[in-house]
Amino acid sequence: MTVTDPAPAAAPAVFDELESAVRTYCRRFPAVFTRASGHLMWDEQGREYVDFLSGAGALNYGHNPAGAKAALVEYLLADGPAHGLDLHTSAKARFLERFREVVLAPRGLDYRVQFTGPTGTNAVEAAFKTARRVTGRTDIVAFTGGFHGLSLGALAASATAFKRGAAGVPLGHVTRMPYEGYFGPDTDTVDHLTRLLDDPGSGVDKPAAVIVETVQGEGGLAVASPGWLRRLAEAVRARDILLIVDDIQAGCGRTGTFFSFEDAGIVPDLVCLSKSVSGYGMPMALTLIRPDLDRLGPGEHSGTFRGNNLAFVTAAACLEHWADPEFTARLRAHATVLDGLLTELAARHPELGCAPRGRGLIRGLAFTDDTTADRVSRAAFERGLLVETSGARGQVLKLMPPLVTGEEDLRHGVRILAGALESVSAQSPQEERQ
Ligand SMILES: *Cc1c(COP(=O)(O)O)cnc(C)c1O
Repeated sequence: MTVTDPAPAAAPAVFDELESAVRTYCRRFPAVFTRASGHLMWDEQGREYVDFLSGAGALNYGHNPAGAKAALVEYLLADGPAHGLDLHTSAKARFLERFREVVLAPRGLDYRVQFTGPTGTNAVEAAFKTARRVTGRTDIVAFTGGFHGLSLGALAASATAFKRGAAGVPLGHVTRMPYEGYFGPDTDTVDHLTRLLDDPGSGVDKPAAVIVETVQGEGGLAVASPGWLRRLAEAVRARDILLIVDDIQAGCGRTGTFFSFEDAGIVPDLVCLSKSVSGYGMPMALTLIRPDLDRLGPGEHSGTFRGNNLAFVTAAACLEHWADPEFTARLRAHATVLDGLLTELAARHPELGCAPRGRGLIRGLAFTDDTTADRVSRAAFERGLLVETSGARGQVLKLMPPLVTGEEDLRHGVRILAGALESVSAQSPQEERQ
């Protein structure tokens, strides 16, 4: 990185003056960005940043990936319809065809594709509606540490007290169960779940569905093991309860396979996808539905922005990566590299009390002190690296490099992180908090 200024120049006053107090990421990273390409961003002063934030997982293929950009520009110049409600368009047909050919068919998966409103939370709402309609039951089982979005239905399933507190109404019809490892390694939380489900004296009503993330992206990078996921899938199937995998953050290649549940060998009844499904940061969300469960009637879950054709164009272009077996092989190799680098960093800084977490290319460092990840993130920003925190107490530093980041660029980003850890280690917490 070429840094001439010690810090980014102050942002224009208009953000403070006009933008709602609810804004958040820009507080942590108060630069004014003007350009972005691949894993890099630049601000108004020309400072370069390595982007391991990746739009919270919306930019798995990096900023402005060339193939998708070319397809998009061509579509725009040809006056292709940008907005289309859910009208048939050639862009939507092409996306659906490629999604079937490149993603579903090779994995032996049979799903109907529901285009929901363009946010992840809307895909979750749609999944809940279908699960409740099909089963005639109301409750959803969600896990400790889970994050499923902030609209009221999905928020009820999200675990963080701070986010739930904004609802302003009671959040109901969700039964909370412990995620894998919640009580430590000796308690099997699938056994805990089935015990409660099967005991007529437990007070737990039979749910419509269980919703689960295979890696808790917002919840501190806890990872469910393939064995736990398999037993969960078997337990709910045996009880005629539907399984929803929320793959909004962990899907689209983040863990090394297109769907994060592939290694576990499970087939969920419903899958929620958003964030990187458009591959370009375009708003788009999908709920994948087992065909016999596709029971909401025409328009029952509608929305104006379910036909973002620009997103269909970039999504279809980015799916081409999945037709290339080398792409997947590279993901696995880079995940191993990142794991090694983080393990090494954690070992180098025992004084910071940190341990590596995560899977694939969604990884990080969990700190024993709740303030450390925040301080490391800020120190990293000063050095030109964007990395966010995760977990209910912000105790985990989360790295999500674009999947297309080259190995040397990955190492470069982690070197910046190493510098940030050195500087945080050199400061006592007291000094930093002043
Ligand atoms: C981001 C996210 C959501 C919500 O998506 P939005 O687009 O922010 O509504 C839901 N589930 C998971 C796992 C997510 O990471």
